[in-house]
Amino acid sequence: MRFSTLTSYFERLEKTTKRLEMIDILTELLKKTDTNELEPVIYMVIGQLGPKYDEPALGIAERMAIEALINATGVSQKKVQDTLNQVGDLGEAAYILLSKERSSTLDAFFETTGEDETEERDPEVLEIWRQLHQIAKLTGEGSAKAKVRALTKILTSVSPKGAKYIMRIVLGKMRLGVADMTVVEAITRAYIGDKTKKPIVELAYFKTSNLAEIAKIAKEKGIEALEKIKVEPGRPVQCMAAQRLSDPEEILEKLGGKCQLEYKYDGLRFQYHYTKDGKAKLWSRRQEDLTSMFPDVINALNTAFGETPIITEGEIVAYNFQENKIVDFQTLMQRRRKYDIEKMIQEVPSKVFLFDILYADNQDITSRPLPERRKILEQHTHVFKKVDLSTAEIIDNVDDFNVFFDKAIEENCEGVMAKDISEKSIYEAGARGWLWIKYKADYKSELADTFDLVVVGAWHGRGRRGGFYGTLLMAAYDSEEGVFRTLCKLGSGLNDAHLEFLKQKLDELKLPEKPKDVISKLEPDIWVKPEIVMEITATEITNSPVHTVLDENGNGLALRFPRFTGRFRDDKSPYDATTVQEIRELKKLKR
Ligand code: AMP
Repeated sequence: MRFSTLTSYFERLEKTTKRLEMIDILTELLKKTDTNELEPVIYMVIGQLGPKYDEPALGIAERMAIEALINATGVSQKKVQDTLNQVGDLGEAAYILLSKERSSTLDAFFETTGEDETEERDPEVLEIWRQLHQIAKLTGEGSAKAKVRALTKILTSVSPKGAKYIMRIVLGKMRLGVADMTVVEAITRAYIGDKTKKPIVELAYFKTSNLAEIAKIAKEKGIEALEKIKVEPGRPVQCMAAQRLSDPEEILEKLGGKCQLEYKYDGLRFQYHYTKDGKAKLWSRRQEDLTSMFPDVINALNTAFGETPIITEGEIVAYNFQENKIVDFQTLMQRRRKYDIEKMIQEVPSKVFLFDILYADNQDITSRPLPERRKILEQHTHVFKKVDLSTAEIIDNVDDFNVFFDKAIEENCEGVMAKDISEKSIYEAGARGWLWIKYKADYKSELADTFDLVVVGAWHGRGRRGGFYGTLLMAAYDSEEGVFRTLCKLGSGLNDAHLEFLKQKLDELKLPEKPKDVISKLEPDIWVKPEIVMEITATEITNSPVHTVLDENGNGLALRFPRFTGRFRDDKSPYDATTVQEIRELKKLKR
């Protein structure tokens, strides 16, 4: 394919914002593309020089691109700058200037550099691709000049329109609006035909992160071959993501009453690969190469897995080894830099917590259920000071959920991850499904105010809280009507001493039925006389149909992530509790 043909597709894609139209154009383009041209065509369309995880850096700064444009047109630096200021895009500027003028000194330019001006006009796409990759390979002394020269050559060999896109590609500003998933869709249409097979093509992409590769397989071998694609060390797998819910009860229900709860570490997610030819790699969730940023983590993981082919995932956190404590996320972020690495390793030591494994014993294990993967992870990991497994427990009731959550918060985690453990709990590459559910409370941005709420009822505890009351029904005081209205259920922030005290006290206050001055839609195991006032913190006041504190429009309100601060407000009577009116005001303020 000639570059001018590809350029005409760039133009058509640029003109539309409609995804369906884009898919049509791309499908047509792919049908015209030879197998050996798929890589340049697909990657240039999305403005890259290869898959994100393995993209060569061109090393062309804007001023170098300007210099190349000056060479190619023979106009003054001022003119280029003026045009650039006018149109705001060097690609457009290249188009305008190259349409009007082609350097009369161009021949002289190439003569002085000892090269021929490229005779071939309208080169093949593959030739442009080769030249761009050549630019990336130029390093060391004098390379900046050589890069400018090579770019000048490309700009003068293509049409002014072609030059516009070349400029955008080299500056990383292609922006045709073609997303990876749009290409996946076009691959399905062009080579598979059957739209219902898209999930298979998608999964193949999520497992390889390489659009050109799956396009080649789709074109040459078809859907059966795509179905057989495996994850492979050396090629990052698109990360599995989590859904979010803010109620433990709902989470347990969603996961069939039982799940694996894990600490949710507030750090940097990584995927560690050790390849068959002995290379260790670390990628971020967005497939940024972290290998040179975290040599300490690489060493630790090489030790933990004994340098054998593996793909595993976990979280890097900053760690205080003297006090055995996780340090906050901001501190870890100081490690995200390209220089002073050794110094930063000393200043911000890190530790990793592993939570999944995708490849081991020379096999793709992403389709095995989580409990099996966890076992394999345990078997393969030599745990030591710098490498540990995520703290995890099988949980089947809300009370144990809350106890585990409290422990996670106490140990500086941001919450918990609840994971499906049924037969269907595969590693879902690239998906944000319901197999993982996050439950995290951002207490750092919590409401500045605390709430003093009254216990009006309670539920019997289970698991670790068996024999106690595990969850309390909390109410605010409606000073206009003289009644108590419920605002939340409380199960978090309660330690053993609190539970014992509450057991004794609530049994004393127990009533045979709901007191007349309590307005509630919920039916706890026991009702109690409103007397105990507890101080509660939360992250937000939200709307909820479940509780009976109402806003001015009659809609129910509730606290999100309510948590006992540890203070019983013995100094307050239930009538001194936070009022419904105060809560309404607060909700308005936060809007
Ligand atoms: P979010 O970024 O809010 O969607 O939450 C998912 C992120 O939580 C993952 O990308 C991981 O970086 C992080 N995370 C921390 N601990 C765990 C864990 N035990 N299991 C899975 N993900 C975790």
